[in-house]
Amino acid sequence: MKPSDPVTALHRVGPAAARSLARLGISSVGDLLLHMPMRYEDRTRFVPLREVEIGQSCLVAGELVKSNFAYGRRRSLTATISDGAGFLTMRLFHFSRRQLEALRPGVWLRCFGEVRAGPAGREMVHPEYRVTPTRPDAPEPALTPVYPATDGFASARIRACVEQVLDADVTLDGSVLPGERIPSLDAAVLFLHRPPADATAEALGLARERVAKDELLAHHLLMRERQKLRARQSTTPLPRAQGLGRELLRSLGFRLTGAQRRVVSEVLNDLDSPAPMMRLLQGDVGSGKTVVAAFAAIRAAEHGCQTAIMAPTEILAEQHYETLSGWLSPLGIEVSLVTGRLAAGERRARLAQIACGEALVVAGTHALFQGSVEFASLALTIIDEQHRFGVHQRMQLRQKGDLPHQLVMTATPIPRTLTMALYADMDVSVIDELPPGRPAVHTSVVSSSRRPEVVDRLISACRTGRQAYWICTLIEASDSLDSQAAENVAKTLRDAASGLRIGLVHGRLSATERAQAMAGFKNGDVDVLVATTVVEVGVDVPNASLMVIDNPERLGLAQLHQLRGRIGRGRRQSDCILLFDPPISDIARARLGVMRETSDGFVIAEKDLELRGPGDILGTRQTGLQTFKVADLARDAALIPSVVEMGARLEAPVRRTIIDTWSPFFDDSYVEV
Ligand code: ADP
Ligand code: MG
Repeated sequence: MKPSDPVTALHRVGPAAARSLARLGISSVGDLLLHMPMRYEDRTRFVPLREVEIGQSCLVAGELVKSNFAYGRRRSLTATISDGAGFLTMRLFHFSRRQLEALRPGVWLRCFGEVRAGPAGREMVHPEYRVTPTRPDAPEPALTPVYPATDGFASARIRACVEQVLDADVTLDGSVLPGERIPSLDAAVLFLHRPPADATAEALGLARERVAKDELLAHHLLMRERQKLRARQSTTPLPRAQGLGRELLRSLGFRLTGAQRRVVSEVLNDLDSPAPMMRLLQGDVGSGKTVVAAFAAIRAAEHGCQTAIMAPTEILAEQHYETLSGWLSPLGIEVSLVTGRLAAGERRARLAQIACGEALVVAGTHALFQGSVEFASLALTIIDEQHRFGVHQRMQLRQKGDLPHQLVMTATPIPRTLTMALYADMDVSVIDELPPGRPAVHTSVVSSSRRPEVVDRLISACRTGRQAYWICTLIEASDSLDSQAAENVAKTLRDAASGLRIGLVHGRLSATERAQAMAGFKNGDVDVLVATTVVEVGVDVPNASLMVIDNPERLGLAQLHQLRGRIGRGRRQSDCILLFDPPISDIARARLGVMRETSDGFVIAEKDLELRGPGDILGTRQTGLQTFKVADLARDAALIPSVVEMGARLEAPVRRTIIDTWSPFFDDSYVEV
């Protein structure tokens, strides 16, 4: 058996089991090896009944001295065992006739479960138990791992699968890292699945960290390798040409910030060189990334070359189209738009324009990289809100040209240490300055018991000409519940304030309806836009200066920050009200506190890492960072400097082994070359 074999290579794992495992991200034997226990149970010794403590989960054994079938409010079956010195009761609420008959005085019981205080002393309710005629066999030799499990595939079954893999001596053939307390990856993995009876929490933590480090290292090395590859490629350089950029500068109506000027020149410098650009542009919401993209597109256009700018939503693609045509059409650069909802005839006409090279800048959604879209000379691809796209989608777009330059933009502030390790394959530019004259958004955290007050406040603000967002947060699993919530809020507002113009944007509306509502809000015909988090990304309505977020406690900090970034874009003082539904956890409260205290995206990102408990998958996904199999960026960020340092001093063959060991486990966002 090899790590790359499918899980169905194991005994008793058929297609149905494979589907359950797939839900846990496990499809190969190697995935099982890297499916880490979340905790351990100690079944390595029988705890004397006299010593068991309330709250403790433990293994016990004893002879059954009395069983009792109790009727009453809740009928239950109890069996009291004794080991000569102490007693304990097992209580079952559900049981079969066979179970009932087997529990006769004189047999022995072996139970594992949590000890609770019962009506007649200490008891275990529905423990795992086994009945034997005599004293049971020796306990387990190793700690028992408990795995993250899924419906229909419990931890015990996963454990049995992992045991099969270990019994077959399958190894990852991983690296040996010099200077590590646990030199080999395989040793650390084995230790985690079969920890010796005396393994301490510290030793287990160390082993997990060793695996995490290997994974981060592999990723880092892969990124560096990719960067070297790229440096050897060559493409059409786009040197300074007609000076159309100067004309845009004059017509913009605002002066670029220092940060924008710096970043524009970094980008133009890259374009000047034959090595294809691969630059990540980070800039907080509202920092003005679009104009940077415009300067890059102008440079390509000056050479008669095309630029594709891809956005994750139609709303945003249309916004880019409008902004860019406003800026570029006066310079004689034709801008076009491709989304999924063009009428067939219109679509054909636009595609023809793109194929013959007449449209020099093309904004669009995913529709851009479909087979039917052909470019005459695509020299630059720009991806906005990159975390919304998989890398293979970026690749598909890139393949429309001959090694085009790439600019990927993100509003997700990524802490520096992480950028260093995770984006080692890209050059990074940061816009760390907001356009001047924008007062910070004032944020308050308000309990939903004061909802009517908030409604009143919003209504009176809108009566003075302000525009407001009301955001109904998305419960990932339930787009429709959210839409319902948005409809309810819209109704409340309509009922409470006649004459106020309310727009509605949610996932259940057609794209046309959504676009109409957005357009109405943008040009001031709508006072309040009630929306689900579909407005999160990139939407720019400078006159909007008030935002209410319903149930902000459901969202990660990164997403809250994104949402709030929709306001505070004009000169007016803006307000954000986080309307939470009590009770909320301490962590949730701390998160909202961070939102109130700061609007600096980088500070928020750091706090987010700090506050997120391990295993908070939601949080990781929301920040748009790569998720790893074992490493957890919240917990393991501190490992990164040593990962980078180790990456620099490893011998080439070791680097190769590490990359080869891990590459099969990296998802598609790694496979770009
Ligand atoms: P983001 O970085 O979030 O994509 P945008 O590019 O949408 O930000 O810019 C936000 C708003 O700020 C837009 O209305 C844009 O025209 C404006 N803007 C960009 N740069 C400047 C600047 N230097 N001075 C004033 N306004 C600017
Ligand atoms: Mg943007």
